[in-house]
Parts: sequence; structure tokens; C-alpha cells
Amino acid sequence: MFNQEILSQYLENNDSFYIYEKNGIIKSIEKLQNNFPDICFLYSLKTNPNKEVLDTIFAKNVGADAASLGEVMLSHERNVPIECLQYSAPGKTRAEIEKAFDISTLIADSLNEINLIQEIAKEKNIVKEIGVRLNPNFTFFASNGIASKFGIDEQQFFENINQLTNLSHVKIVGIHVHSRSQELNINIIYAYYENLFNLLTRAQEALNSPLKFVNMGSGIGITYSLEDSPLDVENLGKKTIELIKKHRENFPQMKIYIETGRYLVGKNGFYISKVLDYKTSYGKKFVILANTLNGFVRPSIAKLIESYSKEETLFATEPLFTCKNAFPLYTNSKSTEKEVVNLVGNLCTAADIVAQDVLLPKLDIGDAIIITNAGSYAAVLSPMQFSTQVAPKEIFVDKFIME
Ligand SMILES: *Cc1c(COP(=O)(O)O)cnc(C)c1O
Repeated sequence: MFNQEILSQYLENNDSFYIYEKNGIIKSIEKLQNNFPDICFLYSLKTNPNKEVLDTIFAKNVGADAASLGEVMLSHERNVPIECLQYSAPGKTRAEIEKAFDISTLIADSLNEINLIQEIAKEKNIVKEIGVRLNPNFTFFASNGIASKFGIDEQQFFENINQLTNLSHVKIVGIHVHSRSQELNINIIYAYYENLFNLLTRAQEALNSPLKFVNMGSGIGITYSLEDSPLDVENLGKKTIELIKKHRENFPQMKIYIETGRYLVGKNGFYISKVLDYKTSYGKKFVILANTLNGFVRPSIAKLIESYSKEETLFATEPLFTCKNAFPLYTNSKSTEKEVVNLVGNLCTAADIVAQDVLLPKLDIGDAIIITNAGSYAAVLSPMQFSTQVAPKEIFVDKFIME
């Protein structure tokens, strides 16, 4: 299933490492682009800002969803043009806005921030076109809004519309919404898009000038647990294109963006951790792996959450926790013997559990565990400052999964 040559080559000198697969990333991009022909995709860099991953993605006509000045710079350095580089984050500082001002599309996250951009634009003596992130009166699951630290409540936006349309140096030309990540049901996403187009119609009327862009946010999920059924991208694409057609007349020049992180890279990354030792304790076999919690924290967080809850279904808290058994794992052990083991890490804490009582081919020192779904929110979330260990390398290959 995996390219054994690549595995053994890197296992020789590394106890733990990530592998990202270019082939899979390109396929994921093309799948979205082919099914959503009228839409420009933005890559959420916070998912995985590995340089080769970025180069691969930006070479495919995907823009950038930057959540920090650092991500704006990573994108700008790779020649992502301003109209495809959206900078959206709460709590941007004046210094950050100033540095991003000429190289990104600013998405204001609060009324204060709009005023701050107005001040900066005034000093520069220009009118700055911006987008605003709205917190709409609907979510994926409800037809009412919920309190959020993100964006401006839609009601406040409309209440302040006179002030917002009379700013001397800021012109609002775009709307950004994002409700949640990792949805696998297209009906839920589609209903959200429908509500969104109604909001856009009202926003454009209130702004009294044509919207130049909308960023519809994310939501497009990937399968984690082996029980997940994949999102029907083909159907969602078809329905979305129909929806846009229906509203196009109203928004003749509006560019439509969808931002996504995990869909492009999540399933195209693998975390490999070497067996360093094993032992039996009170009848249980422990296999000690390199850099688990500290190199790829999410399997251990999932175990921790499960240990505190008796609930069958646990709520996702992206990107830290998705669901139970979200990271199916494999081994390169060729042993025909199987045994039940606990996979744990090499840290001085007992919390670095990867799997408990799993049946696997017999593992020996030097064998490897390959954890899947490790392309997104994986290396970036690793608490490698703990215990002064050697951080896992990130290795970029053309092809790792063999058909
Ligand atoms: C993190 C984030 C995304 C990306 O989410 P994925 O589930 O990885 O696609 C998109 N938009 C916003 C605003 C985000 O914060």
C-alpha cells in the first residue's frame, strides 16, 4: 500500500517524520476545481504551511486564505496576487495591517478594525477596498445566529450601514463568512450557501454598490474514521453551480471564493514513527514509539477526551479534536504473527497514548507505525517545545501511496 522504498530510506536516519504526497495534493485540487468551475479556491495556510506544499498548491491556481501576517508573507513571497490573497483573522494589529496593506485583500473582522483601516488609508490618502467578515443569522445547524469572536454580527453590520458606507477612505466590496469545518453532509453545506446568497443580496442592497467578491468559507470535510462516508463533491459542485447561476444576474461581477485547508492536504500526509522499544507490564504489551504526542498531538488528545467522556458521540473541536478513531494506522512489520498492543510515546508523561489494545502484526524495534490523515493540522499543532526532542522532519515526495 505504501512505498516501502521511501519508508526504509527515511527510517534509516529518522525516528519520526512526516511524508506529504504531491500526487494526492494535486488530485484533490483538481477534483475541487473540476467540480466548481466558477469558483476560485483559497488555501488555508494554517493547515500546513510546508514550503513544498505551498509551492505545489499555488502552482495550481489556488489562492491564499491567510490567518496571520506570517501567512500573508509566505503567500506574497510565492507571488500570490493581492486579489487571491485574503487576510482574515481577529485581532489584527495596526503594524500587521500596515505591512499587509498593499499586498493582500484585508478582511476586517470587527467594527474597530474597519475604523483602524480607515485611519491607515487616510494617512496614505487612498480609498482602500476591503471585505468584511460577517457572523450571519444562521449556522450550519440553525436558522439563528450564535455569539462568536469571529466577524461582525450581521445585525450590527446592517445597523451601522450608514456609517460604514460613508467612510471616506474605506469601501466595503466583499463579504466573508465561515461557520465551521469538517462537514461531510452536502445538504448542510448547501443550505448554508443558500442562506448566504440571501444575505449577500441584502448586504449588496444595503451597501448600495455591487459586491466584488464573496468568500463562502470552508466546511468541505474529509473522511477520518473508517466509518465516515466521503463528501459527495460532485453533487455539491453541481448544486452550487446551479445556485450561483440563479443569482448571477444580481451579482454580475462578483468573484466567488471558497477556502479550504484540510481537503487539499489532510489525506495526503502521513506521520511515521519508529518503534524504539517494547515491554510487557502487568500483562499488557507497550510499544514505545518516537515523538507521538509531541510530534503529532491529535491521536493523544483524542484518547484524552475519550478517557473523560462516556458519550458515544463527542463534539468535534476543530482542529484539535475531530472524532474517535480519526487516524487509522498501519505498520510496515511483515510479521505474520499478530498481537494486542498499546502504542505509546517516548515522553516523560503517560498521556502520549496513540492506541490502546489494538491488534497489529508483531512489532519489533526499528519497525514503523504509519499514521494516516496527517497532512492537515498535524505538524503545525505539535508541542515540540516539550522535552527538547528532535522535531520530526517533513518530507515531500511525488508519490507515497501505491495503488
Ligand atoms: C481554518 C479555516 C479554514 C480551513 O478549514 P478546513 O476545514 O481546513 O478547510 C477556512 N476558513 C477559515 C476562516 C478558517 O479559520
